[in-house]
Amino acid sequence: MNLAIRFDKLGTETAFAVAEEARAIARTGMKVYPFHLGDIDIKTPAHIIEAAVRAMNEGKTGYCSNYGVQELREALVGEINRSHGTAYAAENVAIQPGGKPVIQKYLLSLMNPGDGVLYPNPGYPIYESLIGFYGGKPIPYTYRETSDGFHLDLEKLEASIEPGTRFLIFNNYHNPTGAEAGPEELQALSELVLRHDLSVLCDEAYFDVRYEGQSTSLASFPGMIDRCVILYTFSKKFAMTGWRLGAAVGPRTVIDAIAKLNVNDESCSNHFVQYAGLHALQSSQEPSRELLTILRARRDLSHGLLSVIPGVRCSLPNTTFYLFPNVTGLMERLGFSDYEPFRRAVLQATGVSFCSRIHFGTPLPGERERYIRLSYSGINLDSIAEGLRRLWEFTESRRSRAPGSGG
Ligand code: PLP
Repeated sequence: MNLAIRFDKLGTETAFAVAEEARAIARTGMKVYPFHLGDIDIKTPAHIIEAAVRAMNEGKTGYCSNYGVQELREALVGEINRSHGTAYAAENVAIQPGGKPVIQKYLLSLMNPGDGVLYPNPGYPIYESLIGFYGGKPIPYTYRETSDGFHLDLEKLEASIEPGTRFLIFNNYHNPTGAEAGPEELQALSELVLRHDLSVLCDEAYFDVRYEGQSTSLASFPGMIDRCVILYTFSKKFAMTGWRLGAAVGPRTVIDAIAKLNVNDESCSNHFVQYAGLHALQSSQEPSRELLTILRARRDLSHGLLSVIPGVRCSLPNTTFYLFPNVTGLMERLGFSDYEPFRRAVLQATGVSFCSRIHFGTPLPGERERYIRLSYSGINLDSIAEGLRRLWEFTESRRSRAPGSGG
């Protein structure tokens, strides 16, 4: 069978290939240190699992509304209105099987062929993939590395806007850099959005994965509520990645369009899982706080051990569960000019598995700095310590062989 022509334009998460290589190494009997995973190795809290079982026993096993069950829509807007200072109604919510489907349904609902879409690069690779797949024009924007982490380069972003640029995908609390825009940057961004008459997909997958202070949404700024669709997910905050539960929150016209796509696609999100989500929102938030405490300890340990490796420069993000160290000096020192030989050499010699910048969008012309991404959501403290010690030993043992020895 021949695949449809449009398939040439569909990208993927190339990080899955990294996971496959890591599994192959594990099959040889070598211990793998899984810093490549974007998943959480901590089980969903028991009371949420019990709520799903209860819902099944109560007969929540048939189809339900394509918009999602009403109780969950109401509880979710309650939660979002509290954290965002907004006044959404339940009609502004379409429940989804995960946060990810919001990306494609947003683009399918609003984007016409040839429309320009600003998207973060490096960034979640699905943006670039789906913009191209549905016939839009992907326009990358990037983040600047500074002494206090990564920041939006608003000037460059604005300069890349062309006639026909209609959309912005904005992932505050950013995968992979951990960047966050504070209130001043958000204010400036909201003004830019108004100036250029853009619509925004606010990917808030990590809005609640925050170690200090409070998150702020672009949707909370004047004039934004009519222009933003929020991607909400239960995946990270409640350790529910495999349950597939999320939502699109935004103006009714888009929400109705997205709900119509739901009918044509999955009919409805899993019925009893929505009651588990409802329970997650309405019961004690202590398990989510405990999850953050665990993640924070992993972040601090990983950051401390990476920062002592010569040639590595790593900022300490306050959100997400990723570190995005600059390894330009290290790769040079070890004689590697390309990412993949470096990543594979480390994996094969040490079992330490990570993604690199190339797994987060097509590298931009003129990029000279090199970055890798370490996720600490799927690896415990002992393995972090052991794995990063092995990484340090590897870099020390190869020191004398560089330059030109790496391939
Ligand atoms: N957006 C970003 C930036 C992500 O990193 C992820 C998952 O890793 C998602 C969206 C989608 O997550 P989910 O579909 O599990 O809600």
